[in-house]
Amino acid sequence: MSRRGSDPFRDTPNSMRGVPQLRAEVLVIGGGATGAGVAWDAALRGFDVVLVERGDLAEGTSGRFHGLLHSGGRYVVKDPVAAEECVVENTILRAVIPDCIEDTGGLFVTTPDDDPAYGDRFMDGCRAAQLPAEEIEVADALRREPRLNPRIRRAFTVPDASIDAWKTVWSFARGAAAHGARILTYHRVTDLHVSDGAVSGARLRNELTGEDLDIEAGFILNASGAWAAQILHMAGIEDVGVVPGKGIMIAMNHRLVDTVINRCTMPADGDILVPIRTVSVIGTTDIRAADPDEIPVTQAEVDQMLDDGERLVPGFREARALRVWAGVRPLFQDARAGEVKDTRDVSRTHAVVDHRERDGIGGLLTMSGGKLTTLRLMAQDIVDAMCAQLGEERPCRTREERPPGNEDGDSYRLGSRLRKREKTLQDEQLICECELIGRARLEEAMRRRGGESLDDIRRSLRLGMGPCQGGFCIYRATGILHAVDRLDGEEASASLRHFLQERWKGVWPILYGDQLRQARLDDWIFQGLLDVEHV
Ligand SMILES: Cc1cc2nc3c(=O)[nH]c(=O)nc-3n(C[C@H](O)[C@H](O)[C@H](O)COP(=O)(O)OP(=O)(O)OC[C@H]3O[C@@H](n4cnc5c(N)ncnc54)[C@H](O)[C@@H]3O)c2cc1C
Repeated sequence: MSRRGSDPFRDTPNSMRGVPQLRAEVLVIGGGATGAGVAWDAALRGFDVVLVERGDLAEGTSGRFHGLLHSGGRYVVKDPVAAEECVVENTILRAVIPDCIEDTGGLFVTTPDDDPAYGDRFMDGCRAAQLPAEEIEVADALRREPRLNPRIRRAFTVPDASIDAWKTVWSFARGAAAHGARILTYHRVTDLHVSDGAVSGARLRNELTGEDLDIEAGFILNASGAWAAQILHMAGIEDVGVVPGKGIMIAMNHRLVDTVINRCTMPADGDILVPIRTVSVIGTTDIRAADPDEIPVTQAEVDQMLDDGERLVPGFREARALRVWAGVRPLFQDARAGEVKDTRDVSRTHAVVDHRERDGIGGLLTMSGGKLTTLRLMAQDIVDAMCAQLGEERPCRTREERPPGNEDGDSYRLGSRLRKREKTLQDEQLICECELIGRARLEEAMRRRGGESLDDIRRSLRLGMGPCQGGFCIYRATGILHAVDRLDGEEASASLRHFLQERWKGVWPILYGDQLRQARLDDWIFQGLLDVEHV
């Protein structure tokens, strides 16, 4: 059994060891953006909250999304309600979680393959949604973004931005914890308890120890995204399905653009390029998947994404692709509302499903659909619905309150991390050169987070996310994990192997050019020198 650290989130279940029963007013299922937002909202309203997540926070879709804080421009023609929600929420999130957002701005551009007349419909939609957009000269757009396709015919500015999902989710979860919420990561819901027409709690399994735990809860808020139907089946609700809409994204190894670039056309595949930290990410597809846990990336999808990138930035294929990954949109299919044919045609707005009205089961609400950009509104709506069912008036405070981690009050800029660390980087050992992670910070994160997973540390610090994809830093980090007395040798080696396997999943579909050379070098280090299969 591995030793544990002092992570306040992890300590909760450990301190409950031997106690088979937990109690809370509200159980939130799912530790993605929605669940973290819901826990924050409910805790701020004074509810006693427990949030459970089967893996690490943001390990589901929220940690695998495209990184765009939507201005709403994408939806103004096709989905005006979604557009209006984005316009409002974009402004609120900039105010309450500024440190999670980079104000890159956005451009909608008409490529030679797009109909220039769509630009007029786009501007009409922006006016109707009160989205501040402006048409600018193509020459100005090209001055701003010199790598952009010089053959674009029209360009419009919008307030798009990029948003760091991990910081966002951790920030809301920390905020909830500061208001008394208990955040149980690595706790999977395996059953819901239903009696007398209402839910009364759930059975959980601690995924690290295998122990079962019962939780008694007056209300359950199902924020499990693409897995929501699986949770509902546990309450005997069989006729709701979630059609997982799979999308892939590819990170290129530097910022080909500094502004979010969207094609000015009806939403389609591969039409957005988002600059995030030091990389830029092209995405995405939207393909119906059978199972949210089985979302393999195909070579055809990768080729399509690279071709789509070429339309926006000529020479895109020659840039170095770092990594590809997939996420699943939680698109609801209600058997009572007909079958979903094309996942892209499903509205991107959200809805709260009240299972008392729909299925005669009280105390259970499910969040369906939505976007990361609208997570705060989604949380507000579901907690409002819970208050209404409980007959309580507790006003929402998330429009004004800032969760922790946003004290600076400024959106982050490229280079801000370097500025923060420049002083100490002179004296301390640099562990991850790509992401500028020094030894002290790594050790601090290892102690704080506890656990044995280097992949969890990656989500906290971006460890191993640069061009070498962990090739140079991860064996150093493994040694440190061992040295800080978190794990014995065998456990540390297992953690290293797990990390490498996870990284490999994102690398093999894009093995060409420089990244192929990098993968060969990494392979020599880990297989040839270190013989990781047998350490
Ligand atoms: C390809 C793609 C690109 C996207 N890009 C953008 C974008 O650029 N901007 C934007 O605003 N939105 C975007 N979205 C939408 C956005 O990412 C999602 O709407 C949002 O992240 C969903 O968050 P969530 O918390 O509802 O779901 P998730 O983040 O998936 O969280 C649900 C959690 O529930 C957990 N869970 C499941 N079963 C159990 C169980 N039995 N017990 C305990 N926990 C369980 C899962 O592990 C998971 O962590 C994108 C979506 C996709 C698929």
